[in-house]
Amino acid sequence: MEKLIIIGSGPAGLTAAIYSGRANLSPLVIEGLSSGGQLMTTTEVENFPGFKDPVLGPDLIDNMRAQAQRFGTRFETGDIIEVDFRKKPFTLKTENKIYQAHSVIIATGATPRKLNIESETRLWGHGVSSCATCDGAFFRGKEITVIGGGDSALEEAVFLTRFASKVTLVHRRDQLRASKIMQAKAFSNNKIHFLWDSIIEEILSNEKKLVRGLRVKNLKTNEVFDYPCEGVFIAIGHIPNTNLFEGQIDMDRGYIIVNNPTTQTNIEGIFAAGDAVDHIYRQAITASAMGCKAAIDVERYLSEQNI
Ligand code: FAD
Ligand code: NAP
Repeated sequence: MEKLIIIGSGPAGLTAAIYSGRANLSPLVIEGLSSGGQLMTTTEVENFPGFKDPVLGPDLIDNMRAQAQRFGTRFETGDIIEVDFRKKPFTLKTENKIYQAHSVIIATGATPRKLNIESETRLWGHGVSSCATCDGAFFRGKEITVIGGGDSALEEAVFLTRFASKVTLVHRRDQLRASKIMQAKAFSNNKIHFLWDSIIEEILSNEKKLVRGLRVKNLKTNEVFDYPCEGVFIAIGHIPNTNLFEGQIDMDRGYIIVNNPTTQTNIEGIFAAGDAVDHIYRQAITASAMGCKAAIDVERYLSEQNI
């Protein structure tokens, strides 16, 4: 019987582990198959407070993990594949083990939706990114494309004009899905150009294995052409990793609903933090901050229950 199980080992889960470990709760983290979360897929992180110089995403995660271990956190690998939150204590299952816990923090994050083409995988981190706030500054004075037509794509495009000489938004239709206010912002920005009715057939690279352009297909004319750029930001939505909790935890379009400003879900004793909850900010620091709040919420909950 565990006092606290944390599902997920990204910044939200690891920060929750640091705080709950320091509170002597001896948390158990079920790491997930993508141990360390999204930051393991990036290179330099420049915006996590406390690091004057850029820190590599995997190094930042290693440090958080070691810090959590120092306070008694235990780790087990694997994905949780089934939960029963209907009765207490809560039950969680991996492929080969069953766990019981008095409280749970869900920190399963989200997965950026991908184009699913081979060149995207090959050039990820070499000019292809899904986070303008994180990687935009690496493209000062360069030409960038943003893929997508929703609020995220437009927000990324507007943000990227701070750095880029030109930003081209590539959208598969001739109408944007984004809100009118975001559309107005993008249309009035003279650094932003549009390629309508267009899909990406391939992301092109140079001899240094860095992005040099896109092979684009116009769906109305069937014309295929190469379009130069040095950065590609894929902004076609995120998928929260929350399928597992459907029918038990209240959600809005897959994002877990918490009782703000706490991290309490609809089930007493189950808390949630990070990108599985937040579809707006989606940063390591905001995920960590929610992980901290979740650990403090658990500590209070367990002491109220005399556990
Ligand atoms: P995640 O990091 O997504 O971690 C989720 C964890 O849950 C993973 O360990 C996963 O294996 C686990 N999990 C999922 N399902 C299960 C399951 N069923 N059972 C067990 N475990 C499960 N933010 C910044 O602030 N600065 C940056 O520079 C920056 N760069 C980025 C670069 C890239 C390429 C990407 C994709 C994101 C970047 N971000 C950056 C965003 C940041 O990584 C996320 O906001 C942050 O990682 C979210 O943390 P999280 O803990 O909520 O979720
Ligand atoms: P989204 O609204 O789902 O938009 C995704 C966009 O990507 C759509 O334009 C879609 O095209 C396109 N797309 C999806 N799959 C694609 C593929 N395989 N190839 C090419 N294009 C593809 O996602 P989002 O923009 O991340 O926004 C998610 C939610 O967060 C929304 O509710 C949004 O309003 C909100 N949000 C709000 C703000 C804000 O208020 N400032 C900022 C960001 C996000 P189609 O249009 O053709 O489907």
